[in-house]
Amino acid sequence: MLKNSYFYVITSFILALFFSLLSMRVVYKSDLDSNKENFFKEADRQSVLLSLLIEKDIDFIGAGANFYQSGSKQDWLQFPLFASSLLSSSESLISLQWMQKIQENEIEQHTKNAQQVFPSFNIYTVPKDQPKTFGYVMKNHEPIYVATDIYPRDEANIKLLGFYSSRERFQLVLDEFMKTGRPSVSDKIRLLQDSLEQNALKTGMLVYHPVFTTDKQNIKGVVIGVLRITSYFEQLISSTSLGESLVVRIIDTGFDAEDDPIMFQSTQWDDFSELIYTSSIKIENRVWKIEYKTNEKFTDYQRLTLFWMFIGSLAISVLIATLTFMVTRDKYRIEKLLAIRTKELHYLAMHDDLSGLLNRRAIRNIINSHINENVSFALLCFDIDKFKQINDTYGHPEGDEVLRHISQLVSKYLEDKASFFRLGGDEFSIVIKVESKEALTKIANEIHHLVENSPTQFDEFEISQTISIGGVLWNGEDKKELIKAADQALYQSKMKGRNQVTIYD
Ligand code: GH3
Ligand code: MG
Repeated sequence: MLKNSYFYVITSFILALFFSLLSMRVVYKSDLDSNKENFFKEADRQSVLLSLLIEKDIDFIGAGANFYQSGSKQDWLQFPLFASSLLSSSESLISLQWMQKIQENEIEQHTKNAQQVFPSFNIYTVPKDQPKTFGYVMKNHEPIYVATDIYPRDEANIKLLGFYSSRERFQLVLDEFMKTGRPSVSDKIRLLQDSLEQNALKTGMLVYHPVFTTDKQNIKGVVIGVLRITSYFEQLISSTSLGESLVVRIIDTGFDAEDDPIMFQSTQWDDFSELIYTSSIKIENRVWKIEYKTNEKFTDYQRLTLFWMFIGSLAISVLIATLTFMVTRDKYRIEKLLAIRTKELHYLAMHDDLSGLLNRRAIRNIINSHINENVSFALLCFDIDKFKQINDTYGHPEGDEVLRHISQLVSKYLEDKASFFRLGGDEFSIVIKVESKEALTKIANEIHHLVENSPTQFDEFEISQTISIGGVLWNGEDKKELIKAADQALYQSKMKGRNQVTIYD
């Protein structure tokens, strides 16, 4: 019973916990999914932001190109004024240069003109794998694009004036202009503004913007914008809603970037491993691959919610287990009580109230079982002589006492060797295992004498009583015949004057 109860308690606890944990898992999963979604959305947002930042600068550089395209040569002298207004609007645009297209035969005049503003002006180039070289070095008499004006006009920048590119790469940029009409963006470069050292960090990028002639058939020159790209990434990182839980790496997949493609990498990039998201943005002729990583699976709030959900689950499981315990305990208590009551009822159904002896209902069962088992037994019946008189003389309660007295007397005599019944009124029966009529006669006589010689004692008087006995030894007859025979023997004892024993023949 108790074992069963523990089984129910433990099972209900486990089931409750199981379902609670199951719902926790659903919350956990949906939190995880929404975090992932947030991370992806945030990554996309960052990518869009980055391309907007760069496009804005490219537009500024485009405005510079427009200045040279639509203005007269006289207007070009206003370049510093114009450029300063552009640069002051952008954190990342740090310099604008005007590379004017000069034919070989125009170089001398152009130098003279430029020297009026910049006395140290002289054309030079840095051919591939060679030192700085003054003068015109091109092989096919092609025009060159000479740095003719620059903003800001600081010492380092002034030194750039007169420079033209003799490299094939610049030629490719020009070819691209003619094809697309669009600006061209370089890979990552070391900024002259930072250092001239070869091992200085590459933190810049150049945007070449074509300046076309009015008929758009030719190029007048190129406006170059110098961008400090680190400024973009600083803005990028500082604007993310995921804070320090997001790291970024930007890889330039465009032309000439193979040697050093990583534009930017968060310092903690290698420490992150959980979720990776990759997107890409197109910046004119280049494609930047942007990789995002996050480590944070859960926010503190989500973790706290899950923790309290777990505590709640545990509490609910304990509560359910306790309720189950209470219900099963009550159930078993009721069942136990019912069993006791049933036993009591059964006892009451089979016993006589007054004497505590077995009753008429019980006698049938015993006779039947003895007949079925074919054991040698006898049935004795006795009735108190003139009991009505006792009642009438002494009173009904005293009559009851006589009934109890005889019941106790005979019970004591029989011990547990026989079954003793009160059939009702002053009528009693005994079912006893005996082998012979002689043995039965002996027992009957002993009972007869015992009752006759043991009056019922009261405080101030005693009541003598006698009984008439009829007995029969079972001889194969059925229950009905056996009872009838015993009745007949008893009747004979009464007839013969009472207070005697008759054994049926
Ligand atoms: P007989 O010798 O012929 O048996 O005469 P009797 O007076 O004993 O007659 P009978 O056996 O027929 O009477 C039984 C009486 O027992 C009738 C009734 O008043 C009385 N009696 C029946 N049950 C109870 C009982 O529970 N308590 C008491 N005090 N008397 C009872
Ligand atoms: Mg009687």
